[in-house]
Amino acid sequence: MKIVIIAGGKGTRISSVADEIPKAMIPIKGKPVVEYQVELAKRYGFTEFIFIIGHLGEQIENYFGDGSKWDIKIIYFKEIQALGTAGALAYLTQYLEEDFFVFYGDTVMDIDLERMLNYHRLKKADATLLIHPNDHPYDSDIVEIDENGNVLKLYNKPRPKGFISRNLVNAALFIFSPKVLPNIEKGVKSHIEKDVLPKCINQGMNIYGYVSPEYIKDMGTPDRYYKVCDDVLSGKVAKLNWRNPRPAIFLDRDGVISREIDLLHSADKLELIEGAGEAIKYINEKGYLAIVVTNQPVIARNLCTFEELSHIHAKLETLLGEKHAYLNAIYFCPHHPDAGYPEERKEYKIKCNCRKPSPGMLLDAAKDWNINISKSIMIGDRKIDVQAGENAGVKTSVMIEQNKPYALLDVLKTLI
Ligand SMILES: [Zn+2]
Repeated sequence: MKIVIIAGGKGTRISSVADEIPKAMIPIKGKPVVEYQVELAKRYGFTEFIFIIGHLGEQIENYFGDGSKWDIKIIYFKEIQALGTAGALAYLTQYLEEDFFVFYGDTVMDIDLERMLNYHRLKKADATLLIHPNDHPYDSDIVEIDENGNVLKLYNKPRPKGFISRNLVNAALFIFSPKVLPNIEKGVKSHIEKDVLPKCINQGMNIYGYVSPEYIKDMGTPDRYYKVCDDVLSGKVAKLNWRNPRPAIFLDRDGVISREIDLLHSADKLELIEGAGEAIKYINEKGYLAIVVTNQPVIARNLCTFEELSHIHAKLETLLGEKHAYLNAIYFCPHHPDAGYPEERKEYKIKCNCRKPSPGMLLDAAKDWNINISKSIMIGDRKIDVQAGENAGVKTSVMIEQNKPYALLDVLKTLI
């Protein structure tokens, strides 16, 4: 399987850090950023590369040569004129007869490529995009997926004010089947996100989003450059690879992150508790997964549909995103054990394993996200939250005062 690295980027925004070198050659710890990508791919057994080069591309060619120094094979495609992120692929069809990865040459990442490829194959996808929540969703390209991971739509920037969505952002790492290539025209500037993927979606191709909590960041600005340098040096980039189990902070929703209103069932009524954004940002920065586990009997009681509930959660993620904070996942229990009301949805009036104090949601999350449960923490505002944490076997279960500003941040600072 081949790895295509798009390394033609001019990198104007970062020119204060490094002038006169292509973006992909910007050094981190004395090594070009793209060399980290080569090493990553090699670790997963991929040794055939195509470098798309442009502006100052001879520097890349001089550095890597034919790749033999790294035990890999590299061929180069030099753009005479800038063709966007996708344009050059139209010239490479003869080399791309089976599925291939596409990396952007200025991204710092440590991704379990094998797991992503397995997902792509399992879904029989024509294209798989790595997507994730990030700390600036409002100025990122949002990807809407359904519960199976099928990409429904891309919402590129700019978007209307008041736009509400889940925080799932295109991270710019792709697996493509050769089937997408006819959607790229030769000699015309085009972009993967703006031009190619929307076409594929309109044609009804199988486009999937692979949600990952791993480290992947571009170095678009000097600020981000210094941040990723720190993260490489501290070992954070490598540590967040899927293969390393991670601890999580499990959080109740109502009364802990959003204001407790009895049986909240409309997004208009949802409000963050003061300090909730800062608290979740703190969790994100500490390298813990932020996972919400919430009982939502409003479904069983027929006060709220699944669509409304997912809108409430989209609003929650949007409000947190404005505070530079993100959740990795939201688990909810739609059930309630007491049947016998006329308006209820009988199929959800059952005794289940997910309603807290049962540990079902925490245990499901642990499986889904490779969580180290014995190093994880549960925080809620009720006894059932504490019990759910204990039943799941977390390290600590803590109760905080309901709806109290900064209560979550204060307790987190004593715990992590
Ligand atoms: Zn349940």
